[in-house]
Amino acid sequence: MDRGTVHIVGAGLAGLAAAVRLAGAGREVVVYELARHAGGRCRSYFEPALDLTLDNGNHLLLSANVAALAFLRTIGSGDKLVGPKEAEFAFADLASGERWLLHPNNGRLPWWVFSKRRRVPGTNVFDYLPLARLLRGTPDRKLGEVIACEGPLYEKLVRPIFLAALNTDPAEASSSLASAIMRETLARGGRACRPLIAQNGLGPAFIDPALCYLERNGATIRFDHQLRKLDLAGDRIEALDFGEMSVKLASDDAVILAIPGSVARLVVPGIATPTTFRAIVNAHFKLKPPPGFPKLLGVVNGTAEWLFSFPDRISATISAADRWIETPREELAQKIWDDIAKLIGAPGDLPPWIIIKERRATFAALPEENARRPTAVTNWPNLLIAGDWTATGLPATIEGAIRSGNAAADLVLGAGRSMRGSSVG
Ligand SMILES: Cc1cc2nc3c(=O)[nH]c(=O)nc-3n(C[C@H](O)[C@H](O)[C@H](O)COP(=O)(O)OP(=O)(O)OC[C@H]3O[C@@H](n4cnc5c(N)ncnc54)[C@H](O)[C@@H]3O)c2cc1C
Repeated sequence: MDRGTVHIVGAGLAGLAAAVRLAGAGREVVVYELARHAGGRCRSYFEPALDLTLDNGNHLLLSANVAALAFLRTIGSGDKLVGPKEAEFAFADLASGERWLLHPNNGRLPWWVFSKRRRVPGTNVFDYLPLARLLRGTPDRKLGEVIACEGPLYEKLVRPIFLAALNTDPAEASSSLASAIMRETLARGGRACRPLIAQNGLGPAFIDPALCYLERNGATIRFDHQLRKLDLAGDRIEALDFGEMSVKLASDDAVILAIPGSVARLVVPGIATPTTFRAIVNAHFKLKPPPGFPKLLGVVNGTAEWLFSFPDRISATISAADRWIETPREELAQKIWDDIAKLIGAPGDLPPWIIIKERRATFAALPEENARRPTAVTNWPNLLIAGDWTATGLPATIEGAIRSGNAAADLVLGAGRSMRGSSVG
């Protein structure tokens, strides 16, 4: 993979991150994308039903997401994520009516657990000790076998955080992935836990500037190009088959497949990929949030777990939402709205709304699925893979997707960093 063209298939964040790194390093890059737009599962679109531009799903990042933040700086979007100066998470419990602010201190020494004002109400300092178990590297198991998945600390902190980050019921989720989250966030102190949101949309923050960066750096993007097949010859990929056209590879060209695992398994012989998925449901309600309503609110004992407020709407997220997929949209919208109405103290008619159900939002972060994630390297020396489903050591997140794209690009550039997990092919 010396100085030839790098062909990247898939213009989600993994593909874009690889393309940005390679084009920035002066390599010739061509990106092929099935859709007529970039961004994959992380994008903005105009929703005529609300006459608003929405994100396909509310996305929360943390200041610990170093690769995502570096990507944004590179493409000139360093200021597009907003959040509080310190790690602060507002919570409301709909059953008890209680409200609190979780406020981990900045440094690594977690003295916030000693402070009643900063920790979760109804917990004491000893409740937090078992979480330390997650910092020890243990074989991957169900999280419920490592820590108790019950009690106030679990219900009011551990469950909402892990459910959002893993998109899987925490009790059955991978302890290794939960442990990675802990190590990269809470264990590094509040400084690593500041919540960050693309207040003006994912497209304007992540996608449009990345496309501009690629254009400035001479990369080509071909939309409406669906990879159908890889033409394999011996230990090399010889051509990319897009149906009506085929791209023949020169001997020093490289390919990075940054497509979903479910598609990769159709084109890469013998590849292992996660095979079970979890849904995410987002509901958007068109209204001006009342003054002082938090930009991000964790909701305990409600239908949705997190509310995001924007100047023109309140949006709700339900993770691991498979149980709601068959519920009629009107019924679900009313249920979520009833909770919001309680929280904003304004019962009234349902405002204009839309529900977006992503059935296969992420792979299920179960131990057995985590074990099925391949590394970037394949048995074909000119073929690498990237995507949030590859062995990043993180759950399916923006951070994981970008790290995977960076890792594949680094391998092409000869500065390959090792990635955990099994190789494929
Ligand atoms: C509703 C929702 C909410 C989320 N919330 C969060 C969050 O709060 N925080 C967070 O960090 N992450 C969140 N995520 C996860 C995050 O969006 C993903 O991890 C990330 O966007 C994955 O990027 P990717 O490039 O790996 O995959 P994708 O975005 O799936 O990109 C793959 C690309 O390949 C293209 N493609 C597919 N097949 C072909 C083909 N045959 N030929 C050519 N191109 C093809 C697709 O069109 C797509 O553009 C959320 C995801 C969803 C769906």
